[in-house]
Amino acid sequence: GLLVVGSVNADLVVRVPRHPRPGETVLGGDLAVHPGGKGANQAVAAARLGAQVAFAGRVGSDAHGSMLVDGLRRDGVDVSLVGTEPGPSGVALITVDGRGENAITVSPGANGRLGPDAAEALEPALRAAAVVSLQLEIPHETVAEIMRRCGRAGTRVVLNLSPGPWAAPTDVWRLCDPLVVNEHEALDAAARPGDGTAESALAPVDRARRIMRGTHAVDARPRSLVLTLGAAGAICIDGDGEPAHVPAPAVEAVDTTGAGDAFTGALAWRLACGDSLLDAVRYAVRAGAAAVTAEGAQPSYPTPDRLPLL
Ligand code: ADP
Repeated sequence: GLLVVGSVNADLVVRVPRHPRPGETVLGGDLAVHPGGKGANQAVAAARLGAQVAFAGRVGSDAHGSMLVDGLRRDGVDVSLVGTEPGPSGVALITVDGRGENAITVSPGANGRLGPDAAEALEPALRAAAVVSLQLEIPHETVAEIMRRCGRAGTRVVLNLSPGPWAAPTDVWRLCDPLVVNEHEALDAAARPGDGTAESALAPVDRARRIMRGTHAVDARPRSLVLTLGAAGAICIDGDGEPAHVPAPAVEAVDTTGAGDAFTGALAWRLACGDSLLDAVRYAVRAGAAAVTAEGAQPSYPTPDRLPLL
């Protein structure tokens, strides 16, 4: 099965005519509370598609915490590895203005208290999983510790470098199979200190090649790489292989929130099923595309019958 280790947040969303300036107050619409967080989003995306998936993370002892755990359970995610920390759950305070532009403040809350010491209790689950999927909304030391344990256990690791950047230790970087980045995160990941090349001038495929050759440290090379390109789909490189471009199905984009999480959750699940990287990407672009056709993150995640065809 698939194990997702990461963040779970309550997204608090208010529509406003325009964002307040510092010191200013604006009146907005009614508050909407949605389940979110990159880790929980990935787990829900996989579960909707029929995956056997467990989520490991931390919620707070507040009302959001029980709401978030109930939501995951209702979607069929195994929540037996979710712990409760005294204090607040993770929250994203989101205002959306009349032009659809977001301003977001994230309070990690309980996610920030998922320390590296939590990894030991996860050891049996890390060993039992076919794939462990991680993102960066929990402490980086925890991500590193879990990845190293997966490495020792021979469990495949998917790392979504989001939110970036993270110049991970070389041994951690080398465990990524694949490293998943969007175009923005790829810019950071491909940057070489002291290297004068204007990264933004590189075509995505060249940026992908550069990341695979090793970037911020000698030998800091992921085992494989997936670079997502929004409406243009994704590029993947497996080991020493040539880059392959996978187009996304053409859909009408309504709201791209959480598309990357849907993509990565679907990808990690298909890899856990034994798909090749290329086949898993061909499936994941369809999940990502479906996720942009409706408002919000989790509400837009598809069941298999709602996956657009490539
Ligand atoms: P992020 O959400 O992290 O910014 P992307 O924008 O690259 O990442 O989107 C991730 C995936 O979602 C893409 O690889 C693609 O499969 C799908 N996707 C995103 N935007 C669109 C779109 N406008 N049309 C079709 N698919 C899309």
